[in-house]
Amino acid sequence: MKDSNFLKEMNARSVWHPMAHPADSLANPPTIVTGAQGVRITDVDGHEVVDGVGGLWNVNLGFSCQPIKDAIAAQLDRLPYYSIFRGTSNDAVIELSEELRDFFAPDGLTRAFYTSGGSDSVETALRLARQYHKIRGEAGRTKFLSLKKGYHGTHFGGASVNGNANFRTAYEPLLAGCHHIPAPYTYRNPFNETDPAKLAQLCLSALEDEIAFQGANTIAAFIMEPILGAGGVIPPHESFMPGVREICSKNGILLIADEVITAFGRTGSWTGSRHWGVQPDLMCTAKAITNGYFPFGAVMIADKVVEVFEKDETGKAAIGHGYTYSGHPVGAAAALACLAETKRLNVPENAAARGAELHAGLLALQEQFDVIGDVRGGHGLMCAVELVSDRTTKAPIDKKSIGQVQEVAYQSGAMVRVSGPNIILSPPLVLTSDDVQVILSALKAGFASL
Ligand code: PMP
Repeated sequence: MKDSNFLKEMNARSVWHPMAHPADSLANPPTIVTGAQGVRITDVDGHEVVDGVGGLWNVNLGFSCQPIKDAIAAQLDRLPYYSIFRGTSNDAVIELSEELRDFFAPDGLTRAFYTSGGSDSVETALRLARQYHKIRGEAGRTKFLSLKKGYHGTHFGGASVNGNANFRTAYEPLLAGCHHIPAPYTYRNPFNETDPAKLAQLCLSALEDEIAFQGANTIAAFIMEPILGAGGVIPPHESFMPGVREICSKNGILLIADEVITAFGRTGSWTGSRHWGVQPDLMCTAKAITNGYFPFGAVMIADKVVEVFEKDETGKAAIGHGYTYSGHPVGAAAALACLAETKRLNVPENAAARGAELHAGLLALQEQFDVIGDVRGGHGLMCAVELVSDRTTKAPIDKKSIGQVQEVAYQSGAMVRVSGPNIILSPPLVLTSDDVQVILSALKAGFASL
């Protein structure tokens, strides 16, 4: 391996980083990760820490999952690639599809459309939603509704339903006909409502108002994350997603669950939709479907939608959409092994137990440090700590100070992620209680350094 300074210099002159200012990697060189074992990563300088980020919310089973590595190697030897565009399929993808069908049966989802990642899955779901209405003769249903603070990837469709200006402004104009309603975010919301149940009702009323304003027969779908992730880990009240389901059904609007983060155990349930007892019409998955070892995703499709497509005799259901890597056999083999390990280890159970410890530990830190304005979590291993410079005014913390918390936490044993004023925690789901304590004490050192 090349020497540390050499790599840092080369990185600065040859790599542009997603979600970063290009000039920033010169001023603030990134951590160069060169190895990983279990739930720990090692950087180029030999420093080893617990990965509080879990790769990017995707390495649910940690970095040493041998069955997935073996499945990838075996599939590469047997059939490294074949497309599943009309006229061909491959055995790996068929086997996976049967497994996914069983896995998602409680969510009412029986068909899979494969993608290369989360943004592709969102794009696929948005397109299928429009097509569904066209097949049924409701061609006017083209608009999409979503939540402010929601994150749905970076393709133009996904960016259009994103609810965070940081991911939109530079790329506008985006898709016409995308409208946003307030998220059930108790710490900051336009209603100044701090009670989660009341806030959920206010947001549901806002959804109904928006539907009435736009006209239900112009709306194709509502897309939401069961627990908002990148927007700062915002778990809604338990009444919210069921309420959305009811409103969508009443108005002929499809419900797309964007479970790119929440599927496969992160919330402490097998899927985020199941967590809230909701059956969506389309579900976007990616990330942990292969434990992050291979870029892959699947959109799962409910029977109601399946029937409309499969019974079509007009030709309108021909799918003019798909990716070269849709149904990639190596991704399929990785996903199959990943699913088997996820079940064998019953990771949602560990996610729920360790998530509760992490959340309790963060609430205890909030008692000690005024810089912590809000702590969110309590549903598996996804938590956020929102930092403020003043608790009374809730003025957000400055970039330098939150960067310092992150840096000190790293030096003290844990990689954590910064997103705006939030520290986001999404460690592997196979974390132990000791690992939780490492993350908490590293963060404590970070807060104490301010
Ligand atoms: N949807 C959600 C909810 C996500 O969290 C993400 C990624 N963080 C995406 C979509 C996009 O996924 P990808 O980065 O794999 O394209």
